[in-house]
Amino acid sequence: MGNDKGRTPTIWDRCDDGSQQRVGFAATIGLPADEHCPIDGFDIEIGAGVAVTPIRPTDDAIAVALVTPAADHAVARNGIPLPVGLHPLRHADRLDVGDRTYWLSGQKGVEETEYDPDVHGEDVYCMLTKARLAPGQSIKICPGREGRECGVIYKSAAWDMFMESGTPTKCPNCGYHSGEAEWEPPQPKPRRTLDGLLPD
Ligand SMILES: [Zn+2]
Repeated sequence: MGNDKGRTPTIWDRCDDGSQQRVGFAATIGLPADEHCPIDGFDIEIGAGVAVTPIRPTDDAIAVALVTPAADHAVARNGIPLPVGLHPLRHADRLDVGDRTYWLSGQKGVEETEYDPDVHGEDVYCMLTKARLAPGQSIKICPGREGRECGVIYKSAAWDMFMESGTPTKCPNCGYHSGEAEWEPPQPKPRRTLDGLLPD
């Protein structure tokens, strides 16, 4: 497990055959992208669409969407058309660009760092071992779960032994466990057609 697991924002694009393509992006991408699937990378044609740029996560925002004048109100975030300008995007946001629907994901990952009393507070104890942390000690910080912030601190060795084991322990504070399924976009509702409503 590396640092920042799952923190790179990912764009999900549904192909015409129903399959989901996902592309992590570390720099600005343009939507709509080339429509062929599978996607090897997005073609950036921002003029008629939206530019999506990852940002350092703040207030749950993980990216920003820049709507250009040519795309004024042609791009919708979670069903609401966006005016020209910059708009924050959060995990599990939906973007409709023309007739294409994209989803954004960017779950927080487990943060691995060194204990620093100035950053993490004085007198911090490992959640599992209850051992007092020493400055510079390797720690891991629980990312929390969907809708549940956490931030509890563990000694790295304790996290690895208990949280990443074959039968992972749950975080006593928030219930996070490493085997949890990764977020996926919701399935689209089947379109009802007139034919489908009429008897055979
Ligand atoms: Zn937790």
